[in-house]
Amino acid sequence: MTPPKLSSVDTPARILRTEEELASLTASERIRYRLVSADKRYHANDNIAAFVREGELTELKAEVQAKMAEVLKALVIDTESDHNTNETAQRVAKMYLEEVFRGRYVPMPSVTEFPNAERLNELMIVGPITVRSACSHHMCPIIGKVWIGLLPNEHSNLIGLSKYSRICDWIMSRPQIQEEAVTMLANELQERVRPDGLAIVMEADHFCMHWRGVKDTETAMVNSVMRGAFLKDANLRREFLSLLPNRKTG
Ligand SMILES: [Zn+2]
Repeated sequence: MTPPKLSSVDTPARILRTEEELASLTASERIRYRLVSADKRYHANDNIAAFVREGELTELKAEVQAKMAEVLKALVIDTESDHNTNETAQRVAKMYLEEVFRGRYVPMPSVTEFPNAERLNELMIVGPITVRSACSHHMCPIIGKVWIGLLPNEHSNLIGLSKYSRICDWIMSRPQIQEEAVTMLANELQERVRPDGLAIVMEADHFCMHWRGVKDTETAMVNSVMRGAFLKDANLRREFLSLLPNRKTG
């Protein structure tokens, strides 16, 4: 085993800390230590599954629960006698780790790719796929839809239709920024399917806009990524955009 690199973010007394030594730290400190040692980014929309050991998600949940209880305390909510908020810290921790931010902590769902035996080379559209995410700025829900356009070639790998939703869900189940989310999804699909062209359109409601700030109830944010043939060929791009079913705006 090579000793982890000493980083300016974390200055331990010694360079090498064994897993036994790390065991005395909290789970979040241990995971952070591994990330920093490996020089890996751990922004809100990054997946850190490779740095989480077995059992540590349960520990993380307990940590988040304890901190969430502190947040409620700081909000001067009497969680002891208020039956409504009695178990809120526990519920929120579970929701974050196991549901809405799960895509940060678990590896990508396994996807079987198969060769394009039929040599499909026509525009394929997948969607609308329901998007459930949260914004990194306010941790408020983002609810919307994604459409994916693919122009496969004979060397492309194809993946089952349901897998597009699973990959999308894995990327969206993190605190996200819509522009970054569509780019992440495009990168993942580009690498797996290797099509001649890839187009993604995401249209979503940002609840931080409804609930706070401008309180505008009409705004949906639309983002798109166009790659390969969709960039070069305006007709293909138009065809894709005209075929998107159930779009609110356009
Ligand atoms: Zn926001």
